[in-house]
Amino acid sequence: MRKIAILALAALLIPQVVLCWGRLGHRTIAEIAERNLTPKAKANIEKYTGGTPLWKYSLFVDEYRNHPDYKEALDGFHASIADCDCTSPQIVRDRYRGGKDGVTAMYTFRDQLKNYKNLPDSVVLFGIKCITHIVADFNCPSHVRYVDNLNKGGFVAIFNGKKVGVHRFWDTWLIESLQKQRGQKINHMLYADHLNTLSKKEIKKVTKGWAQEWFEDAARSCRPVIYWIDDRKIEIINQEFVNKAAPLVESQMQKAGYQMAAALNEIFGK
Ligand SMILES: [Zn+2]
Repeated sequence: MRKIAILALAALLIPQVVLCWGRLGHRTIAEIAERNLTPKAKANIEKYTGGTPLWKYSLFVDEYRNHPDYKEALDGFHASIADCDCTSPQIVRDRYRGGKDGVTAMYTFRDQLKNYKNLPDSVVLFGIKCITHIVADFNCPSHVRYVDNLNKGGFVAIFNGKKVGVHRFWDTWLIESLQKQRGQKINHMLYADHLNTLSKKEIKKVTKGWAQEWFEDAARSCRPVIYWIDDRKIEIINQEFVNKAAPLVESQMQKAGYQMAAALNEIFGK
């Protein structure tokens, strides 16, 4: 059965851009971030973006991942790795991903961009585009990897009568199906209204620390998912599964938005 499922998945894997969180998810997270920038950070960022909203950059890393000019520079940004205790120190990131992961990239950008006033505009804009993606990716359940379980969701399930790779379920289908369920087709602005609701105290809690701590929190929150996925009974993803997955996914989107703002505020708020 498993073999058949894997073969079926291979057939589904036609070359196309894989969008962690999908367009709606990425744009929503970046919009939440934009709404939580300090006035100073926003003004400094706009010197490089010309006022283009962050959501417009949020898919750059996915869209250019195979572009010859960017492939090398963007390599590994889409996933991050934790050990089975959900910690992600540099030694784990180096050992299991050769330091090519979202968390490590965030430290590299922070180090580089703290001198942003002395860098070429194109370099600063590239960093902004990457940050508006990476923080979202490392909060996505299917992009949190564990040394004892890669959690790639690499098998097929049936969802709403259609075959779907479980990875894609997390990335796109769940968010889309939630909108349908709620009887509304909302865009990222409305979705950001819906999720940009944490209190100051809650924001302080979810933005405590920096990329490693944020990712470790995501790793702890998403860890149960690997057992849902490993449970062969969920070859059909049913309403019960969606009900269980929805609050987790929306909470991760929320955290990602506030953490993205915190990262940009720290770098550009000075
Ligand atoms: Zn990505």
